[in-house]
Amino acid sequence: MNIRPYERSILDVHGIGEEKAKLFEGLKLRTVGDLLEYFPFRYEDYKLKDLQTAEHDERVTVVGAIHSEPSVRYYGKKKNRLSFRMLVGRLLVTVTFFNRGFLKNQLSLGAEVTVSGKWDRHRMTITGTELHKGVMQQEQTIEPVYSASGTVTSKMLKAAISSALKQFGADLPEPLPEAVRTKYKLLNKQETVQELHHPSGQHAIKQARRRMVYEEFLYFQLKMQLFKKNQREQNSGQSIYIKSEHIHTFTSSLPFPLTNAQQRVIQEVIKDVASPYQMNRLLQGDVGSGKTVVAAACLYGVICEGYQTALMVPTEILAEQHLESLKSWLEPLGKRVELFSGSLKGKRRRELLEELAEGRIDLAVGTHALIQDDVIFKNLGFAITDEQHRFGVNQRRQLRNKGQHADVLFMTATPIPRTLAISVFGDMDVSILDEMPAWRKPIETYWAKHDMLERVLGFVEKELTQGRQAYVICPLIEESEMLDVQNALDVHQILTDYFKDRFHVGLMHGRLTSEEKDQVMESFDQNQTQVLVSTTVVEVGVNVPNATMMVIYDADRFGLAQLHQLRGRVGRGSAQSYCVLLADPKTENGRERMRIMTETNDGFVLSERDLELRGPGDFFGAKQSGLPDFKVADVVHDYRTLEVARQDASALVESNHFWNDPEYSVLRDYLKTTGALDQGKLD
Ligand code: ADP
Ligand code: MG
Repeated sequence: MNIRPYERSILDVHGIGEEKAKLFEGLKLRTVGDLLEYFPFRYEDYKLKDLQTAEHDERVTVVGAIHSEPSVRYYGKKKNRLSFRMLVGRLLVTVTFFNRGFLKNQLSLGAEVTVSGKWDRHRMTITGTELHKGVMQQEQTIEPVYSASGTVTSKMLKAAISSALKQFGADLPEPLPEAVRTKYKLLNKQETVQELHHPSGQHAIKQARRRMVYEEFLYFQLKMQLFKKNQREQNSGQSIYIKSEHIHTFTSSLPFPLTNAQQRVIQEVIKDVASPYQMNRLLQGDVGSGKTVVAAACLYGVICEGYQTALMVPTEILAEQHLESLKSWLEPLGKRVELFSGSLKGKRRRELLEELAEGRIDLAVGTHALIQDDVIFKNLGFAITDEQHRFGVNQRRQLRNKGQHADVLFMTATPIPRTLAISVFGDMDVSILDEMPAWRKPIETYWAKHDMLERVLGFVEKELTQGRQAYVICPLIEESEMLDVQNALDVHQILTDYFKDRFHVGLMHGRLTSEEKDQVMESFDQNQTQVLVSTTVVEVGVNVPNATMMVIYDADRFGLAQLHQLRGRVGRGSAQSYCVLLADPKTENGRERMRIMTETNDGFVLSERDLELRGPGDFFGAKQSGLPDFKVADVVHDYRTLEVARQDASALVESNHFWNDPEYSVLRDYLKTTGALDQGKLD
């Protein structure tokens, strides 16, 4: 049997020897397939431009004669600038190239050249990127540009890829069956690879790209959907039937009626818990949409059926807040709730662990202290993680493993844009709380410059005088927690002086011990502290309904999702709440983000905008996103295709022809090589 061309070593490509192979290794290019699918990241379009109509800053390509002796000026260390005048039609323009002094010898007065670069209309200058002697031939007008690195140049890549195409281009495996290609009018694989490297025109690039995007997404979603299918089939869960009278008991004990969305989500969870499959559900609900009550209702229902339950949260503050609410709801109904946090130690800890193991605790609330090895449940039936995006995949899995096939519900208050939700959480079922409790008023948000601080503090004071409380969030310095703390200390000092003898100003930051944090929080909760200066530790989940004022320093340093989270700390009572963003953004993007915050309270709208402005990597933090590196596809711009691919993949893994027809063998083989077929695991 022939080895398939894609799997051959790049050493089989003419012109690539040991030495070059080693260089290419640096770009992780090891096989012919790697090389052929190392696509250009952009194209240089040498379509000749009429400078009279070209826009300022536009990329142009022009042909003309060199009109002045090219000269090179050296400056700095190893820097130089080559420049000459050039007659393009009847325009005399200046051409400059940076650090390409070596080109000078190839140029002579009167010679004809083709130059591409950026056109400066006002100075009549082209800052060049490409230079060709003579008039470029028509069919060469679009040139691929590869992302190069150190010793591997775009030119080397171009040569190696051309060579590989010549040798192997004619017999590339086609993963997409003809029926699929016809349905979506997609180019075949061979044409696609050819066009991406040696494009015949802009339209062809578009078509080739469209085909590759679909292929990449289909692979990705097949893995995802297969994973989901295997999860369902292999991990049988326990079936717990929650009686509706228990849910009724719980809801009628609440001082408020549930929203329709809350009721719907509870039913969705009940259905999952009852199914023989392990639950894999994500509950998304904007800040303040009332996730905790939903969690409590479900936990209560499961407890009533004789199981233990757990609720895991990312911070101690949040653990304690949840403990308080859950105790207030569940203890009157005769259920026992205990806290397992990092500060639980010694004898008390041993006692609680023993009681947990004996099944005498119904609900364990805690931080990741809950997943330590010596925490043993007698019969954990159901677990919930709140603010789940803050936990790593492993921590979530560990919690699940605490019970035998325990069902786990993931909750998050970071609304995830639809586009990312279906890609990152494509293997999960998603519930959405898209309705706020009726009494909630939208928070009024203002953007102020830092030099308006005095006025802002006057505004804060007005609220305080009416018996309200305020949060003041300190500047964020990503690199150093120490500096964050220093900022908090400074702001605390300023505000303490300002509100002296009138209001008490508290201070919260990550360097406090958990007892100290408790005290600070307690004092704010009891309104002994009226102003709480804090780093972002209060970002998640904290609930003090009497606080109506939120001031955020250097707001432009925060992402929109985080600002929205912070803002969600107010507006939790029935009074009108306010948020003031203090920011002097330097960029248009920064100003745009402040404007968006003042315009909408809807977390889903914000998250979509955030994604557009920052890209998917930044949205979750690059590592957390769980997104593969696509070669061509882009989850934001190509999301429609992603949805199509997802539907197709989901139908395929359930279909007979996918598993049996020869047309699908390339796709099946791919899933085999990634291990997705055997273990149902995503890498
Ligand atoms: P989040 O979704 O941000 O976690 P919480 O669960 O903390 O929101 O709920 C915010 C506040 O709204 C809490 O004080 C909670 O008791 C209250 N709440 C939840 N559901 C309702 C409802 N249906 N009607 C009125 N208030 C509610
Ligand atoms: Mg919450």
